[in-house]
Amino acid sequence: MTKDKDILHCPICNKSIRIISNNYKCTNCNSNFPIEDGIGILVPSPTEHISMIDKKIEGITGDWYSADQVRSYEKGPYYNHLQKRKKFVTKILEEINKKNKINNLLDLGCGDGSNLKWISKFSQNLYGTDYNLLRLKRAKKILNEIKISSKLFLTDIFSMPFIENSFDLIFFNHVIEHLEDDKLALKKIFKITKKGGYVILGTPNEGALAWKFAYYIESNVKRKTDHVNFYTANSIKKISEEAGFTVEHIEYMGWGIPIWKIDPLFRKYKIFDDLFESIGKKIFRNQATSLYLILKKNN
Ligand SMILES: [Zn+2]
Repeated sequence: MTKDKDILHCPICNKSIRIISNNYKCTNCNSNFPIEDGIGILVPSPTEHISMIDKKIEGITGDWYSADQVRSYEKGPYYNHLQKRKKFVTKILEEINKKNKINNLLDLGCGDGSNLKWISKFSQNLYGTDYNLLRLKRAKKILNEIKISSKLFLTDIFSMPFIENSFDLIFFNHVIEHLEDDKLALKKIFKITKKGGYVILGTPNEGALAWKFAYYIESNVKRKTDHVNFYTANSIKKISEEAGFTVEHIEYMGWGIPIWKIDPLFRKYKIFDDLFESIGKKIFRNQATSLYLILKKNN
């Protein structure tokens, strides 16, 4: 069982923290980090951070911050596609677990916990972080209901409260496209990955021509996504390598009609989602909707 002191440190000064009367307290700089509903608020300025997110919830990209993810995961038009992602990630986790037992697993940007639910079985110690307390509280509730034990923390990716070389596996799923300084984020993730450990990085393939076209004809969709980066396989591979990772594999996944208004009308039916997948994989490989990269931190 991994203890707090083995992986956590102060997000401000990187020295050790410990729990004193329902707060994490830094032993060096004396900073206080509250714990709410069992979730440690481990960001440099907890109050400012929470009010910043509250403002986002009221803004134009508010849906990205507050819409029910589990509902869209399980009942939305892309259910069939999400099952394909889950199947792929499961296969990778099984392979990695066979080679090297995954001790500490972090879902970085865990949101409402849709993925924590099923990746939990691949780890001894399950961690989830997000910068949105609303989502973390939902995740906690869902995991408690199905009796999965986990540790959830509110964190900021640019000042994470984790000690170097802490995680055997980091699941970093559809987060990086939202981060202005994506290169720095990858460097931070590289640090906290254990030597010999892996990162499974998922992101939309929105730098591809088909999806650039989709945004071009429906520019209102772009404004609502909160995406700031639009990658191709090559561009995401390049910045992953610059951060220090070896790219072991790139998976192209999901094909559709590059018109946001029409695509979900078809892909909500498994028969179409499967058909697009089999045609796309053969003929339009580079125009997939999603990418998964398997990144390794070598010894
Ligand atoms: Zn400190």
